Amino acid sequence: MMQTLHRRECCRLCGSRRLELALPMKASPIGDAYVPASRLNEPQDLYPLDLYLCGDCGHVQNLDIVDPESLFRDYLFTTNSSSGLVEHFRAYAEDVLSRLKPRPGSLVAEIGSNDGSLLRFFKDKGMRVLGVDPARDIAKQATASGIETLPEFFTSELAAQIRKKHGPAAVFCANNVFAHIDNLTDIVFGIRDLLAQDGVFVFEVSYLVDIVDRFLFDTIYHEHVSHHSIAPLAKFFEKTGMQLIDVQRNMSKGGSIRGFAQRLEGKRPVQPIVNELIAAEKTRGFDRLPLYRDYAARIERLRAAANSFIDNEIARGKTVAGYGASTTTTTLMWSFDLAGKLAFVADDNPKKQGLFCPACHIPVLPSAELYTRRPDYTVILAWQYADAILKKHERFMKEGGKFILPLPALKIFP
Ligand SMILES: [Zn+2]
Repeated sequence: MMQTLHRRECCRLCGSRRLELALPMKASPIGDAYVPASRLNEPQDLYPLDLYLCGDCGHVQNLDIVDPESLFRDYLFTTNSSSGLVEHFRAYAEDVLSRLKPRPGSLVAEIGSNDGSLLRFFKDKGMRVLGVDPARDIAKQATASGIETLPEFFTSELAAQIRKKHGPAAVFCANNVFAHIDNLTDIVFGIRDLLAQDGVFVFEVSYLVDIVDRFLFDTIYHEHVSHHSIAPLAKFFEKTGMQLIDVQRNMSKGGSIRGFAQRLEGKRPVQPIVNELIAAEKTRGFDRLPLYRDYAARIERLRAAANSFIDNEIARGKTVAGYGASTTTTTLMWSFDLAGKLAFVADDNPKKQGLFCPACHIPVLPSAELYTRRPDYTVILAWQYADAILKKHERFMKEGGKFILPLPALKIFP
């Protein structure tokens, strides 16, 4: 399928044209474009994935934008297929309700609401809920299951229509989508217009500080066009008539922030943590290039270490497989030059099994195949889940199989 690509010329948050290449990334296919055998003859292109730093506000972002229609309309991932996420959302809803104490019957709206997993918890606590999600099939299923979901991209225009029909929102949530949207200004204008005077916008996104400190560069993929830190976001909110009032860090996606913002005229105080985190980012230099140059050099050292080990073993006649077929593993596979070196990729998600990895077309097979095909080494591409994978396949190791953990440091098990 042809994807359309456009190049952004100015910062997504502040509009500045002072954009500098901060982290060069290898071009990659669309991370989630796993294909069935019937479509292997269709070429899959590689798209740039480089990160740029804004010289004015310090926002880190991708400038090469793949058309969101083709990225999100056929989205397959549903939240309730991931039990860990559902539990995360239960705690999320409880946290928001206990902090903000919206009156029962108030409107809680969410963009990128997927199958309604988060909104369902609010609904169970007596709130009125409304979801917005452009993935048509998922939106339809959510509505059928009792969580009304508009199958649209959220815009300021849609916000006005929602306010007219449903009234203002006491709570407005957006999880991860804040990293997905190219035109964030219009989205935030829409959020502000839909919020009640004392309403709060709650968003969760991967935190740039964790992306750097915990080697989460595999969360850089075409759906994620922004990699947020707090200083640029705080300025951006002010410019759009909002105010960032609180931030919590959590381990979602390996390291995220949950931010709380209100309309500029809102009465909630700004918590000290906001300015503390901004100061810490500045001290470490997240608004300047050297930090990213250093990060790139550390990634390159890890890439080289993994490759020299794997190349040596392949030269000795050993076979190598991968473990994990997701969007992040696509980025890792291409960043680390592994696409041509793996005989197959094992994955425990039945929806992925039988498909082929984006562009390199390595087959995705159930992890039981480790025991029949017996690769000498299996690279844990889904390295954040290494503990669970190693535990699940103790028998494989007892029978002579070895795992390669490429990140956060090269390690061979057993
Ligand atoms: Zn900027």
